[in-house]
Amino acid sequence: MTHKILLLAGDGIGPEIVSATETVLTALVERFGFKCEFERALMGGCAIDAHGDSLPEATLALARAADAILLGAVGGPKWDKVERAIRPERGLLRLRAELDLFCNLRPAALFPALADASTLKPEVVSGLDLMIIRELTSGIYFGQPRGIEVLADGVRRGFNTLEYRDHEIERIARQGFEIARKRSGRLCSVDKSNVLEVTELWREIVQGLAGEYPDVELEHLYVDNAAMQLVRAPKQFDVIVTTNMFGDILSDLAAMLTGSIGMLPSASLNGQGKGLFEPVHGSAPDIAGMELANPLATILSAAMMLRYTLAEADLADKVERAVARVLADGARTADIAGTASSTVSTGEMTKAVVAALD
Ligand code: NAD
Repeated sequence: MTHKILLLAGDGIGPEIVSATETVLTALVERFGFKCEFERALMGGCAIDAHGDSLPEATLALARAADAILLGAVGGPKWDKVERAIRPERGLLRLRAELDLFCNLRPAALFPALADASTLKPEVVSGLDLMIIRELTSGIYFGQPRGIEVLADGVRRGFNTLEYRDHEIERIARQGFEIARKRSGRLCSVDKSNVLEVTELWREIVQGLAGEYPDVELEHLYVDNAAMQLVRAPKQFDVIVTTNMFGDILSDLAAMLTGSIGMLPSASLNGQGKGLFEPVHGSAPDIAGMELANPLATILSAAMMLRYTLAEADLADKVERAVARVLADGARTADIAGTASSTVSTGEMTKAVVAALD
């Protein structure tokens, strides 16, 4: 079967890191019989420049037709002043909403060769490999009513609504159980059910599903304790499933345990397993076009695409092993150089990964 992959290079370093990843995927085609065809479309600031909209209809149509979407990054100072409704970030939010990408996977794995990059002690983080699953299309970031109003007495009141419907909780919880089942069989659901009724419902529904997954060991933690435990002893976790806002915060915290933003991939999936895959970092306008960008977060995002959407787990393993190998051999882009005496460019790192594919 030929997989249709839509490439959205975006802005800043986006074109460099997506092109690097295309090179790796093309090597899989040439050497291991991977079948795919690439489409390309504009999204973000480049789409505003060309079409006056960060997510043009043509891009959305291609995204709907694709099996999987690989995104570089969007945004940059050039578009910071454009009308809010068409800003690059809005295009990304719209794309997630239009494709109903409710399940955000944010792995935080520490490559042994980069143990020194973390601010935590090596013995606390070495071997760390956890997956945070964040609900992405509901919760307090989307709840209505929301706003800032002036009350009769002149006092201003800001308000947002945290709400979850039972089916929204159930579908993200199921993803948690399914993914835990494919990993070590441990799932931690994070809520604040001692204070928030919404997450009381969350806990009740997650608990209710546990009987269907007897092979998964389920625990519940309050979000404040989860934050503490992630810093104290992160290796106790394997898979964490949580709400949109808690996941936003905890996934950034977990990401930093690994030390480098240039290494972190992510996936956003819908109910049919279709997904948008992108590095966690932004468009890094400060280094755009300088061959300094670390392409590994995007290459690892493509590995997630192979694993979670295209059912090509063997190829995903190959890409992840190749990345581990080049790091073990000492290749470092500037962002992960630490005390290394020399660094490689975006192109050199990409070449090394291609050469290390077994
Ligand atoms: P950023 O992640 O782009 O950059 C933060 C720092 O990390 C910079 O010093 C940058 O050079 C460095 N960095 C990031 N990725 C790197 C890589 N692959 N290799 C080497 N160094 C890397 O965050 P920012 O500066 O806050 O944002 C820049 C722009 O990106 C903004 O317009 C922001 O809105 C946008 N942004 C987009 C996304 C997205 O597309 N999903 C996410 C975050 C930020």
